[in-house]
Amino acid sequence: MSDNKHYGFTTTILHNDRRKTIEQGSLHKPVHTSVAFGYADARQLASVFQGKEPGFRYGRQGNPTVSALEDKISRMEDGVATLCFGTGMAAIGALFQALLKAGDHIVSSSFLFGNTNSLWQTVAGQGVDVAFVDATDVARVEAALQPNTRMVFVETIANPRTQVADLARIGELCRARGILYVVDNTMTTPWLFRPRDVHAGLVVNSLTKSIGGHGIALGGALTDTGLFDWAAYPNIAQNFRKQTASAQGMAQLRAKALRDFGAALGPEAAHHIAVGAETLALRMERTCANALALATMLEADDRVAAVHYPGLASHPQHAIVETLFRSGGSLLSFELKDEIDPFDYLNRLKLAIPASNLGDNRTLVIPVAHTIFFEMGPERRASMGIAEGLIRVSVGIEDTADLVGDFRQALDA
Ligand SMILES: *Cc1c(COP(=O)(O)O)cnc(C)c1O
Repeated sequence: MSDNKHYGFTTTILHNDRRKTIEQGSLHKPVHTSVAFGYADARQLASVFQGKEPGFRYGRQGNPTVSALEDKISRMEDGVATLCFGTGMAAIGALFQALLKAGDHIVSSSFLFGNTNSLWQTVAGQGVDVAFVDATDVARVEAALQPNTRMVFVETIANPRTQVADLARIGELCRARGILYVVDNTMTTPWLFRPRDVHAGLVVNSLTKSIGGHGIALGGALTDTGLFDWAAYPNIAQNFRKQTASAQGMAQLRAKALRDFGAALGPEAAHHIAVGAETLALRMERTCANALALATMLEADDRVAAVHYPGLASHPQHAIVETLFRSGGSLLSFELKDEIDPFDYLNRLKLAIPASNLGDNRTLVIPVAHTIFFEMGPERRASMGIAEGLIRVSVGIEDTADLVGDFRQALDA
């Protein structure tokens, strides 16, 4: 396949492995299970170790199957390099392990995936100051910046209340101030939105969610968009300064986070995720259409107190969705009127499954305050706009009428 930059999203992913020679003409990059990689010439082994020529050394730092997936994710995100990790949380943890030091300051959206919120508490306990701000408003982000601010971290569509960060303006701000802008793109996926377009320097994806899509493998990724000037980042260690400026961030992340902390993605999981990624665009089209149909039905029903879905005109950040995203995404949440017990409602659903994943092909539902956001307590929940009866829906690819019908019959019952 010629290296044609003009192919569409799905064509590019489907044919990406073939841009390099694949063993025996295999159409999928094979699953390489070997942990070690042997060299006939010991000098070549030494030169791979010294970074003078490309090659694999040991499975924790890289693997051919994982590397093929990294290449695919770079293409999806229009980035220059990607590092995969065993989970999305390991990818986010890598930011802290490799790029932050005690005495640093970061600004984070307060509307966050629960485990990222918990991770930032850990980080704060280890000497990095974390300012939580309402990232739907760039002025709040700007007001929180300090001379020692190393990073601004936001999610695109926040889980579970679907607040959308002021992505483009925050990108402009970070660019003007030379601050690393990290965008967790998990809820939008590179098919709905590319954070590079708003000047993100690093992009986080949990591959466990829509990119893998089938709920059978955990994985995470960090993509360098090539826009951030690593030569100006104060926390790059001297030995990584020997690399070209553009490679310094990823070199330090690979060594300090992946190699030293060891949360490597396994080759079998990488293979499952790569197969799933081939249909990302097709699945997202269906799932986003389903989400809009479901949100529209729920909003029109007077037994429902509130619906949060960025694709609805009533959503506070709907204008950002219209300018930046291909559609409103696959995540919605809603609140029932007080007379309906949310647990009873969930138990009446016949298709949607009470479970805590996102981006599965099947529709999954969860009572947020009692499960994934239970640990943080009522005060922090309230500050994130999470009502005690909030139900989160990760919309799947079921036939639209079946799905909408299921949520309606559970209201009628
Ligand atoms: C799920 C998720 C993560 C963490 O990913 P895992 O693969 O479950 O570790 C991070 N950010 C967001 C927005 C997520 O939805």
